[in-house]
Amino acid sequence: MDSIHSLIQYFTELPGVGPRQAKRFVYFLLSRNARYLDEMCRLIQDLKNTIKTCTECFRFFPNDTRDGLICNICKNINRDKASLMIVCRDVDFETIEKSHLYNGKYFILGGTVPVLEKVPEKKIRLNELLSTVERRAETEGLREIIFAMSVNPEGENTLDFLKQSLTPVTQKYSITMSALGRGLSTGTELEYSDSDTIKNALKNRVSERKSDDSIIKT
Ligand SMILES: [Zn+2]
Repeated sequence: MDSIHSLIQYFTELPGVGPRQAKRFVYFLLSRNARYLDEMCRLIQDLKNTIKTCTECFRFFPNDTRDGLICNICKNINRDKASLMIVCRDVDFETIEKSHLYNGKYFILGGTVPVLEKVPEKKIRLNELLSTVERRAETEGLREIIFAMSVNPEGENTLDFLKQSLTPVTQKYSITMSALGRGLSTGTELEYSDSDTIKNALKNRVSERKSDDSIIKT
Protein backbone atom coordinates (compact mmCIF):
# COMPACT_ATOMS: atom_id res chain seq x y z
CA MET A 1 0.00 0.00 0.00
CA ASP A 2 1.34 3.46 -0.88
CA SER A 3 1.64 6.16 1.76
CA ILE A 4 -1.54 7.93 0.64
CA HIS A 5 -3.63 4.85 1.28
CA SER A 6 -1.79 3.88 4.47
CA LEU A 7 -2.45 7.32 5.87
CA ILE A 8 -6.11 7.17 4.83
CA GLN A 9 -6.35 3.99 6.89
CA TYR A 10 -4.94 5.77 9.94
CA PHE A 11 -7.30 8.72 9.63
CA THR A 12 -10.29 6.42 9.20
CA GLU A 13 -9.57 5.08 12.69
CA LEU A 14 -10.04 8.54 14.22
CA PRO A 15 -13.35 9.08 16.06
CA GLY A 16 -16.09 10.31 13.72
CA VAL A 17 -13.95 10.20 10.56
CA GLY A 18 -15.15 8.25 7.54
CA PRO A 19 -13.09 7.08 4.53
CA ARG A 20 -14.06 10.07 2.36
CA GLN A 21 -13.13 12.56 5.03
CA ALA A 22 -9.88 10.65 5.68
CA LYS A 23 -9.03 10.96 2.01
CA ARG A 24 -9.64 14.73 2.12
CA PHE A 25 -7.30 15.01 5.12
CA VAL A 26 -4.51 13.25 3.24
CA TYR A 27 -4.87 15.43 0.13
CA PHE A 28 -4.97 18.49 2.34
CA LEU A 29 -1.66 17.43 3.92
CA LEU A 30 -0.17 16.88 0.47
CA SER A 31 -1.05 20.47 -0.39
CA ARG A 32 0.93 21.85 2.58
CA ASN A 33 4.66 22.59 2.64
CA ALA A 34 7.32 20.43 4.34
CA ARG A 35 7.62 22.74 7.34
CA TYR A 36 3.95 22.35 8.18
CA LEU A 37 4.21 18.57 8.02
CA ASP A 38 7.42 18.51 10.08
CA GLU A 39 5.83 20.59 12.80
CA MET A 40 2.76 18.36 12.83
CA CYS A 41 4.89 15.20 13.04
CA ARG A 42 6.93 16.72 15.86
CA LEU A 43 3.77 17.49 17.85
CA ILE A 44 2.47 13.97 17.37
CA GLN A 45 5.81 12.48 18.41
CA ASP A 46 5.97 14.69 21.50
CA LEU A 47 2.44 13.92 22.60
CA LYS A 48 3.35 10.97 24.78
CA ASN A 49 6.35 12.76 26.29
CA THR A 50 4.74 16.08 27.14
CA ILE A 51 1.25 14.94 28.13
CA LYS A 52 0.81 12.76 31.19
CA THR A 53 -2.11 11.01 32.83
CA CYS A 54 -2.95 12.34 36.29
CA THR A 55 -2.67 9.55 38.83
CA GLU A 56 -5.64 10.88 40.80
CA CYS A 57 -8.30 11.93 38.28
CA PHE A 58 -6.82 10.13 35.23
CA ARG A 59 -7.13 13.09 32.92
CA PHE A 60 -4.47 14.02 30.38
CA PHE A 61 -2.52 17.13 31.33
CA PRO A 62 0.60 18.89 30.06
CA ASN A 63 3.47 18.14 32.39
CA ASP A 64 6.79 19.72 31.52
CA THR A 65 8.20 19.89 35.04
CA ARG A 66 8.92 16.15 35.27
CA ASP A 67 7.99 16.15 38.92
CA GLY A 68 4.82 14.55 40.11
CA LEU A 69 2.04 13.06 38.10
CA ILE A 70 -0.81 15.00 39.66
CA CYS A 71 -2.64 17.62 37.63
CA ASN A 72 -3.21 21.24 38.65
CA ILE A 73 -6.88 20.62 39.52
CA CYS A 74 -6.13 17.72 41.86
CA LYS A 75 -3.33 19.77 43.42
CA ASN A 76 -5.49 22.88 43.88
CA ILE A 77 -6.39 23.28 47.56
CA ASN A 78 -9.20 25.71 46.70
CA ARG A 79 -11.21 23.01 44.92
CA ASP A 80 -14.04 21.48 46.90
CA LYS A 81 -12.92 18.03 48.03
CA ALA A 82 -16.43 17.08 49.12
CA SER A 83 -17.69 16.62 45.57
CA LEU A 84 -16.46 14.37 42.81
CA MET A 85 -17.75 14.66 39.27
CA ILE A 86 -17.50 11.57 37.12
CA VAL A 87 -17.16 12.09 33.38
CA CYS A 88 -16.57 9.59 30.59
CA ARG A 89 -13.87 11.35 28.61
CA ASP A 90 -11.41 14.22 28.72
CA VAL A 91 -13.53 16.22 26.24
CA ASP A 92 -16.45 16.10 28.71
CA PHE A 93 -14.19 17.30 31.49
CA GLU A 94 -13.09 20.19 29.28
CA THR A 95 -16.69 21.22 28.55
CA ILE A 96 -17.59 21.33 32.25
CA GLU A 97 -14.37 23.06 33.25
CA LYS A 98 -14.79 25.70 30.55
CA SER A 99 -18.19 26.64 31.99
CA HIS A 100 -16.49 27.69 35.30
CA LEU A 101 -19.56 26.49 37.16
CA TYR A 102 -18.11 23.58 39.06
CA ASN A 103 -15.42 23.85 41.70
CA GLY A 104 -15.08 20.26 42.89
CA LYS A 105 -12.83 17.41 41.80
CA TYR A 106 -13.14 15.10 38.80
CA PHE A 107 -12.70 11.51 37.81
CA ILE A 108 -12.27 10.49 34.15
CA LEU A 109 -13.68 7.04 33.37
CA GLY A 110 -11.79 6.72 30.10
CA GLY A 111 -14.79 5.37 28.18
CA THR A 112 -18.44 4.38 28.30
CA VAL A 113 -20.31 1.13 28.81
CA PRO A 114 -22.14 0.15 25.61
CA VAL A 115 -25.66 -1.29 25.96
CA LEU A 116 -25.58 -5.11 26.43
CA GLU A 117 -21.83 -5.05 27.11
CA LYS A 118 -20.85 -8.34 28.74
CA VAL A 119 -17.77 -7.12 30.61
CA PRO A 120 -18.60 -3.50 31.50
CA GLU A 121 -15.75 -3.18 34.00
CA LYS A 122 -13.27 -3.60 31.14
CA LYS A 123 -14.63 -0.54 29.31
CA ILE A 124 -14.06 1.97 32.10
CA ARG A 125 -11.75 2.55 35.10
CA LEU A 126 -14.09 0.93 37.59
CA ASN A 127 -11.54 -0.41 40.09
CA GLU A 128 -9.69 2.89 40.10
CA LEU A 129 -12.98 4.72 40.67
CA LEU A 130 -14.00 2.49 43.56
CA SER A 131 -10.67 2.94 45.30
CA THR A 132 -10.72 6.71 44.63
CA VAL A 133 -14.17 7.04 46.19
CA GLU A 134 -13.15 4.93 49.19
CA ARG A 135 -9.94 6.91 49.70
CA ARG A 136 -11.59 10.31 49.27
CA ALA A 137 -14.39 9.33 51.66
CA GLU A 138 -11.86 8.19 54.27
CA THR A 139 -9.39 11.04 54.02
CA GLU A 140 -11.02 13.99 52.25
CA GLY A 141 -14.63 14.01 53.42
CA LEU A 142 -16.23 13.18 50.09
CA ARG A 143 -19.99 13.87 50.34
CA GLU A 144 -21.36 13.90 46.81
CA ILE A 145 -20.75 12.10 43.56
CA ILE A 146 -22.10 13.82 40.45
CA PHE A 147 -22.48 11.75 37.30
CA ALA A 148 -22.01 13.85 34.17
CA MET A 149 -22.92 11.57 31.28
CA SER A 150 -24.30 12.29 27.83
CA VAL A 151 -28.04 11.72 27.52
CA ASN A 152 -27.96 8.89 24.99
CA PRO A 153 -28.35 5.10 25.40
CA GLU A 154 -24.65 4.56 26.09
CA GLY A 155 -24.51 7.40 28.62
CA GLU A 156 -27.62 6.13 30.40
CA ASN A 157 -26.24 2.61 30.46
CA THR A 158 -22.95 3.82 31.91
CA LEU A 159 -24.86 5.77 34.55
CA ASP A 160 -26.92 2.72 35.56
CA PHE A 161 -23.84 0.54 35.78
CA LEU A 162 -21.99 3.11 37.91
CA LYS A 163 -24.93 3.62 40.26
CA GLN A 164 -25.10 -0.10 40.85
CA SER A 165 -21.37 -0.51 41.32
CA LEU A 166 -21.05 2.47 43.66
CA THR A 167 -24.11 1.81 45.82
CA PRO A 168 -22.25 -0.24 48.49
CA VAL A 169 -19.45 2.29 48.98
CA THR A 170 -21.80 5.31 48.91
CA GLN A 171 -24.04 3.68 51.49
CA LYS A 172 -21.08 2.85 53.68
CA TYR A 173 -19.95 6.49 53.76
CA SER A 174 -23.36 8.21 53.28
CA ILE A 175 -22.32 9.78 49.99
CA THR A 176 -25.07 11.30 47.82
CA MET A 177 -25.16 10.28 44.18
CA SER A 178 -26.67 12.72 41.71
CA ALA A 179 -26.89 12.87 37.95
CA LEU A 180 -26.34 15.88 35.80
CA GLY A 181 -27.50 14.29 32.59
CA ARG A 182 -31.18 14.35 33.45
CA GLY A 183 -31.19 18.13 33.34
CA LEU A 184 -30.07 17.93 29.72
CA SER A 185 -32.47 17.10 26.92
CA THR A 186 -32.50 13.65 25.36
CA GLY A 187 -29.77 12.98 22.83
CA THR A 188 -27.46 15.62 24.26
CA GLU A 189 -23.77 14.93 23.98
CA LEU A 190 -22.13 16.51 26.98
CA GLU A 191 -19.13 17.44 24.86
CA TYR A 192 -21.25 19.83 22.76
CA SER A 193 -23.24 21.43 25.59
CA ASP A 194 -22.89 25.17 26.16
CA SER A 195 -22.36 26.89 29.53
CA ASP A 196 -26.06 27.71 30.01
CA THR A 197 -27.03 24.09 29.50
CA ILE A 198 -24.35 22.94 31.95
CA LYS A 199 -25.50 25.54 34.45
CA ASN A 200 -29.11 24.32 34.32
CA ALA A 201 -28.06 20.69 34.41
CA LEU A 202 -25.92 21.33 37.49
CA LYS A 203 -28.63 23.34 39.22
CA ASN A 204 -31.28 20.74 38.44
CA ARG A 205 -29.22 17.68 39.21
CA VAL A 206 -31.22 14.91 40.78
CA SER A 207 -30.35 12.49 43.53
CA GLU A 208 -29.97 8.84 42.70
CA ARG A 209 -30.85 7.30 46.01
CA LYS A 210 -30.95 3.66 45.05
CA SER A 211 -29.56 1.49 42.34
CA ASP A 212 -33.12 1.08 40.99
CA ASP A 213 -34.92 3.78 39.05
CA SER A 214 -36.29 5.85 41.92
CA ILE A 215 -35.29 9.44 41.31
CA ILE A 216 -35.82 12.04 43.98
CA LYS A 217 -35.51 15.68 43.05
CA THR A 218 -33.31 17.74 45.32
ZN1 LIG B 1 -5.96 15.20 38.35
